[in-house]
Amino acid sequence: MDQNEFDFESRIMSSSYVEEDGENENSLRPHSLDEYIGQEKAKDNLQILINAAKLRGECIDHVLLYGPPGLGKTTLSAIIASEMGVNLRITSGPAIEKRGDLAALLSNLGEGDVLFIDEIHRLPRTIEEILYPAMEDYALDIIIGKGPAARSIHLPLAHFTLIGATTRAGQLSTPLRDRFGVQMRLELYTPEELSLIVKRSAAILDVPIDEDGAMEIASRSRGTPRIANRLLKRVRDYAQVKGNGRITLDIARGALDMLEIDELGLDITDRRVLETIIRFYNGGPVGLEALAATIGEEAVTLEDVCEPYLLQIGFLARTMRGRMVTQLGYEHLGIPYVQNNNMATSGGQVSLMDEE
Ligand code: ADP
Repeated sequence: MDQNEFDFESRIMSSSYVEEDGENENSLRPHSLDEYIGQEKAKDNLQILINAAKLRGECIDHVLLYGPPGLGKTTLSAIIASEMGVNLRITSGPAIEKRGDLAALLSNLGEGDVLFIDEIHRLPRTIEEILYPAMEDYALDIIIGKGPAARSIHLPLAHFTLIGATTRAGQLSTPLRDRFGVQMRLELYTPEELSLIVKRSAAILDVPIDEDGAMEIASRSRGTPRIANRLLKRVRDYAQVKGNGRITLDIARGALDMLEIDELGLDITDRRVLETIIRFYNGGPVGLEALAATIGEEAVTLEDVCEPYLLQIGFLARTMRGRMVTQLGYEHLGIPYVQNNNMATSGGQVSLMDEE
């Protein structure tokens, strides 16, 4: 398989936004908490926050949403804005290049508005400092001029809610993290929840789908609604060309096998990660950077896109000294498992270390 083909295949299972999602991503977004499937804990918390804020006639506290890409952070913030009946402004950490950009965004917010900053961990520290008084006192402290003539002015802002989204809560500075009154972790979805999302999206796209066809797509979507919706569109195309347009179990299996997405949702990149650790590093442990260099992928891609799911299904373990493939991972690839003395186990449990 040549390099282009490899890149292409790996994109299908990327949980980050890619161009092919654009067509329908917005039309597939749920518009209310009732329509939003799964994440029950986060939803319950938000419902209470929203109701209480409405009763008091105030805006809700600043919210930090964290978890892997494609789990519904942008969608949730749009729902919060719509349930509160206010405007939503969307931006992202890397898009804000100067202090003035952020100051302008903040001073243009209306009373109660929601400002959503995606990838907030990528906001440069010098710019981030503008957020501290804005979040705490709804004000901007701006220095005008230089040297002895410099003076500071205090500009009041409208009351607003900041919703920050990040894949890495651990990379946020403590002063910023502490200013979020509400911090919620979004979890990977179960296949049952994803199957509901697939059926809902199929209805919106007007694609007939069988129960077991939906479940097949769901169980290969690695816990991520964005991937589920993307695979649904690929299977829909296959159903139209190879069948009569209906997504049945056989059609779903045929399409996903053709895309080399296995029954657990692992694609070529995931299998390469596991195989590389086994073949080149004797099953691990191996550091993320070394692994990324061997595979020829970016370390952040491995960490954000491949790892969360491989950890969740127990194929990979993060130990004090790096990543290791577990016995389950060996078995899935059909490679005989050799007990590795480096695997630090206690009572059958692999000891994990959160490196965030
Ligand atoms: P994130 O901001 O976390 O990367 P998004 O909010 O952009 O993720 O969600 C990606 C896609 O997944 C959207 O098109 C949305 O329709 C769908 N989606 C996410 N969460 C849900 C959910 N709970 N129910 C239904 N669809 C969802």
